[in-house]
Amino acid sequence: MPPGGRFGPGYLTDEEKKNKPKVTKELLIRIYSYLKPYRKQMALVLLAILCSAILTLMPSVLTGKIIDEGLITRNLRALIIFILLSFGVTLLANLIGILESYLNTWIAQHITFDMRNTMYRHLQTMSQRFFTTNNQGDIITRMTSDISGVQQIITNILTSILSNAITLIVALVLMFRENWILALVGMAVVPLFAIPTRSAGKRRWSITKESQACSDEINGILNETLSVSGQLLVKLFGMEETENQRYEAVNRKMIGLNIKESMAGRWFRMALGTFTSIGPMLIYLVGGLIMMRYDESVTVGQISVLVALLGKMYMPVNQLLNIQVDWIRSMAMFTRIFEYYDMKPEIENAPDAIKPAAANGEVEFKNVRFSYDPEREILRNISFKLEKGKCIAIVGPSGSGKSTLINLIPRLYDVTGGSVLFDGKDVRSLDLRFLRENIGIVSQETYLFNGTIRDNLLYAKPDATDDELIEACKQANIYDFVEKQEDGLDTVVGNRGLKLSGGEKQRISIARILLKDPALLIFDEATSALDSISEQKIQDAIEPLIASRTGILIAHRLSTILAADEILVVKDGEITERGTHQELIRAGGVYAKLYETQFSKAPSLPDQAAFNYSEGEE
Ligand code: ATP
Repeated sequence: MPPGGRFGPGYLTDEEKKNKPKVTKELLIRIYSYLKPYRKQMALVLLAILCSAILTLMPSVLTGKIIDEGLITRNLRALIIFILLSFGVTLLANLIGILESYLNTWIAQHITFDMRNTMYRHLQTMSQRFFTTNNQGDIITRMTSDISGVQQIITNILTSILSNAITLIVALVLMFRENWILALVGMAVVPLFAIPTRSAGKRRWSITKESQACSDEINGILNETLSVSGQLLVKLFGMEETENQRYEAVNRKMIGLNIKESMAGRWFRMALGTFTSIGPMLIYLVGGLIMMRYDESVTVGQISVLVALLGKMYMPVNQLLNIQVDWIRSMAMFTRIFEYYDMKPEIENAPDAIKPAAANGEVEFKNVRFSYDPEREILRNISFKLEKGKCIAIVGPSGSGKSTLINLIPRLYDVTGGSVLFDGKDVRSLDLRFLRENIGIVSQETYLFNGTIRDNLLYAKPDATDDELIEACKQANIYDFVEKQEDGLDTVVGNRGLKLSGGEKQRISIARILLKDPALLIFDEATSALDSISEQKIQDAIEPLIASRTGILIAHRLSTILAADEILVVKDGEITERGTHQELIRAGGVYAKLYETQFSKAPSLPDQAAFNYSEGEE
């Protein structure tokens, strides 16, 4: 255990002092609610602590007997009895200690189990905005480190206060019973020991913090450069040597810090050793003086008992000095965790949410306005209607708000004005599960979990049979690929699907949506250029889909656009034009201009030309 306590230095950092949590009755009651289910086990722990604290001190008292009644009086029988007694008591204290730590760990693990589950369930209800605005690292830290910290603290604080206080009180009583003058000398020595502990703790902590930062930097470099895309970048830019040097430099810094840290510990141990030896020496000196000059009834055994008891006081004193710090820190951790618990999910089921038996997939936007933050409106006055079996294509420059628009349908975000209707009902009045079950989105960035193709497909329909999986793969035009793999459907897709090409990933995600079989299909076409064969395969998979169901396509390719019943042109968050391809061409507006500029460049290949433009190209 580090000298400064278990969870950092033995004092509060400036930042911690500034942000001291408010310990209110409510907070304590709330913390207690997590301990309450385990109160029986906790009572048992307290009993074990009490017994082992007292038993641990017994051998010190028996030392006096061993010396006075065994050694000095040369009584072998008494000597053996006291030695055996001392041994027996120590053994018993240790056995109780084992029971205590088992119970302690058990309680701590169960409390964190409960807290982690509550946190995870709560995070699952949080909105998309929460995950896009909060740092992923922060979220994970609260899930892991904060809760682990709490786990240690809950049990350690309780046991520490109790066992140390008992040890101290019992040791003091025993010391005063033996000899009050020597007991006073012993008490005077304790602060001598506590001071170096605290200052060594401070120094060590500052080095630890520095090496923590250094190790974060090393992890950062490793994460960046040893990831698939990072390595690609390093290789293609020929930066291997620069990266080697960068890594070596921080690595060297780390070595220095590690040596310093370990030496800080060494100096500390030396100081501790010196100071702890002063106490016994003082007691020997004063005790000797009393024995030789003033009071002959003082025995060698008594003096030894006092020295032994003094030795048992160092740890408890130090730990109790740190308790306040541990306490504040633990309250801060609880406060941080409860802060998360208290965050209201932005998107929730209405209390009287409607759950229709079936869905048609019809969508209507009525004067929809939307902004991620109040300063900048992303969508304005969006109105359109999509009827059952029809298909709408949305085209527009990058950043015009197309993805934002479709995210409003499954309520990843809620509108800031107007309304979105699904089958004629405001999406906010519908049961969220029902709504999302009936909407399938193939997004631009296909996300596959690290697992097999089968695992990823079953995510959409856990009880799908092999035949269904194969049928979906065939329809999505990916079955040829699956069949060619040695492990077929059990082929591992790699971290985030990185073992597959972009086109393959997209087709697997199309198969996944087919298994989900939603009433409304939304396809956010990838802007990144795929080779024309991959593209054709996706096109062949998507076209029959569009023809047979209600769909919205964010389209970048002419062939997809032509498959739609109506085209909406979105620019700067507004629908600027709408109609069929022919109508829009005839109208001679923005769409027509875009069509001309895009396709006149590749007249022979209109179907495969990317209808993919940005503001600058207009
Ligand atoms: P692309 O064709 O490149 O995918 P898009 O038309 O789909 O673009 P959106 O992704 O809807 O565009 O983005 C519209 C605008 O909203 C952009 O200016 C973008 O910066 C902003 N935006 C997107 N997501 C967020 C977010 N989570 N928070 C804040 N702003 C966002």
